[in-house]
Amino acid sequence: MDLVRTENLKVRFPLRGRAPFAPKKYVEAVNDVSIAIPRGQTYGLVGESGCGKSTLANALLGLQKPTSGHVYFDGQCLDTADRETFRALRRRMQMVFQDPFSALNPRFTVEKILQEPMKIRGGMTESEMRERVLDLLGMVGLSGEDLPRYPTDFSGGQRQRICIARAIALRPDFLVCDEPVSALDVSVHAQILNLLMDLQEQSGMTYLFISHNLAVVRDICADVGVMYLGMLMETGPADAVFSNPLHPYTRFLLSAVLDMNPESSRQPMLLKGEIPSPIDLPQGCAFCTRCPCATEQCRTVRPLLTEAESGHFAACHLLKKQEQG
Ligand code: SF4
Repeated sequence: MDLVRTENLKVRFPLRGRAPFAPKKYVEAVNDVSIAIPRGQTYGLVGESGCGKSTLANALLGLQKPTSGHVYFDGQCLDTADRETFRALRRRMQMVFQDPFSALNPRFTVEKILQEPMKIRGGMTESEMRERVLDLLGMVGLSGEDLPRYPTDFSGGQRQRICIARAIALRPDFLVCDEPVSALDVSVHAQILNLLMDLQEQSGMTYLFISHNLAVVRDICADVGVMYLGMLMETGPADAVFSNPLHPYTRFLLSAVLDMNPESSRQPMLLKGEIPSPIDLPQGCAFCTRCPCATEQCRTVRPLLTEAESGHFAACHLLKKQEQG
């Protein structure tokens, strides 16, 4: 069963500072997105900066109210839940941020940082909290000796371990990992990713994993969604999307991944054209201003997500033509 699900989710932000009688304009941050994340699995979200990945994550966490559509967590609709239910559901979700340097209060010791969520929730004695903090430190590869130390005493990788320990302090069911290694030295990427995978194996947590690194997404995610200008361009099992990318934008992202084979003759795909403004999206396909395969139909008719093979969807008019051919 799916733990997290969205149904035709839209989030848009009004543009401020316009003349009093000017027509209202909106930034379309998330546009008609439906995804489902089964319990215990990892869903990878990829796309260029500003494509709406973080807004979608905030909506999944109940931090951003949808303009329309719904977010469901464990079968319950977040946006129509009463205050008590929402708070109870919200406690079961946490986030690991991109930058562990700014995510930790430099004036708090590790002990205080890790106890904070428990204090906010309440119901634990001092000794229970201390025991849990020691457990958490062990789980993320740190020790009791680190309790009185401050974030500035640690390396980037160690700080991200503290952030992860804080995120799992209340045993969440759902963890959003928003580019969790992109601010870290490359040498510690594998350690942090392995830690996240080990924790998932031990506790059965469900992850939304946001990343620019397609190789990592392919390795650790069961399903993947490719976003462009707030819309899902392609989604499906990671193996299917990466071995048989159906959407020209997915092909472009994959072609930009560094090829480690020195003898490979693969050339990165170059895109011409401008990215449209999210305030004034094209009437047809959002990718039509950059797509090398765009036709007149692409400029006027928006393609819908269509299932091309089991569970593998893409929003491109070319799919229909391939089917007909
Ligand atoms: Fe390119 Fe047209 Fe497909 Fe959009 S619908 S990705 S413009 S071919």
